[in-house]
Amino acid sequence: MKQKTEAIHAGVYQDKTWGSVTTPIYPSSTFTFPKLGEHPVFDYTRSGNPTRAGLEESLAALEGGKVALATSTGMSAITTTLFLFQSGDHVIAGNDIYGGTYRLFDAIMPKMGINFTFVDMRDPDAVRAAIRPETKGLWIETPSNPLLNITDVKAMTAIAREHKLLTIADNTFLSPVFQRPLDLGVDIVLHSTTKYINGHSDVVGGAVIAADPEIGQRVRDAGNAIGTACSPFDAFLVLRGIKTLPVRMAEHARNAQVIAAWLEKHPRVQRVYYPGLDSHPQKALIDQQMLGPGGMLSFDLDADEQQIPAFYGALELFLLAESLGGVESLVEQPWSMSHASMGPDGLAASGITPQTVRVSVGLEATEDLIADLERGFAAIG
Ligand SMILES: *Cc1c(COP(=O)(O)O)cnc(C)c1O
Repeated sequence: MKQKTEAIHAGVYQDKTWGSVTTPIYPSSTFTFPKLGEHPVFDYTRSGNPTRAGLEESLAALEGGKVALATSTGMSAITTTLFLFQSGDHVIAGNDIYGGTYRLFDAIMPKMGINFTFVDMRDPDAVRAAIRPETKGLWIETPSNPLLNITDVKAMTAIAREHKLLTIADNTFLSPVFQRPLDLGVDIVLHSTTKYINGHSDVVGGAVIAADPEIGQRVRDAGNAIGTACSPFDAFLVLRGIKTLPVRMAEHARNAQVIAAWLEKHPRVQRVYYPGLDSHPQKALIDQQMLGPGGMLSFDLDADEQQIPAFYGALELFLLAESLGGVESLVEQPWSMSHASMGPDGLAASGITPQTVRVSVGLEATEDLIADLERGFAAIG
């Protein structure tokens, strides 16, 4: 089946009692045993639940994986996956990964004896140089946030095969519609389903999808032991969101492409970061590994620091908020908001300035979004 069809039909458990078209919410915390010694399919909702199982089947189909776990947040998906490692292990990650992931790797995991090295993953030699005898994993996030740098996933999986490393890719920014890391040889794909997969800014959730059933089962066992699975109510909402994922992604990308091209010509814009532009320095790699450019873009305002608040203040449609991937357009300043915890030195080193604006392009009419941005530029003077 095509992905567009899978998004609508995979994992949809129709209720036979009434012939429902959609998957019901099963809030039951526990399930009856047919008789002593005879195990039901689901026994307890932390371990398994029919609504969540529907979502997991859908996620596995969309990413081309074998086994999935739907979790309470994106961070709990990441935490659960880290239980594949043990004390003494070392993992290499990109130096521009999601801030919350960085915090977990930098401040929490070393206390558990799992250590991380952060490198510029655009450079495979930097990754090779960071490998130690105890290195067990490569943590990939591409495109990066907020500057949309691209990691060559096939180059990473080649290094991983050479050194027997587990590869994990956070695919939140593109969704399986625009990137399928398992097809590129990655072992595990992660999502914050809070973003595009649910897509309506009304759930926090996460997902882990594995190519290999044995690895997937280890993640599910860890999730059951730690207790990170999502509630049946949230599973229902995410499963509903998925039905329009391919349609939404196509429209996010169409809107973002027009806006990025418009921004690139605007006199108040210094630089635009968007994988759909020919000016992206990694255009060839983008065409080779991505199935579409996505709905996230960033740009540098041509403005003095004191003019910047006027830009944000004049926007009426773009909501000033962190997060991304919902139907409504959002705008934020990574410098003071999503990436503030990197500190001024870390921000400067990675090329993020107070002028950098991150945009999650929503599904509103393109003309209205452009008119709103024009209001912001006009306010700079
Ligand atoms: C938001 C996000 C996360 C964390 O997900 P939560 O649902 O907020 O816990 C992880 N990775 C990326 C790329 C994200 O954008």
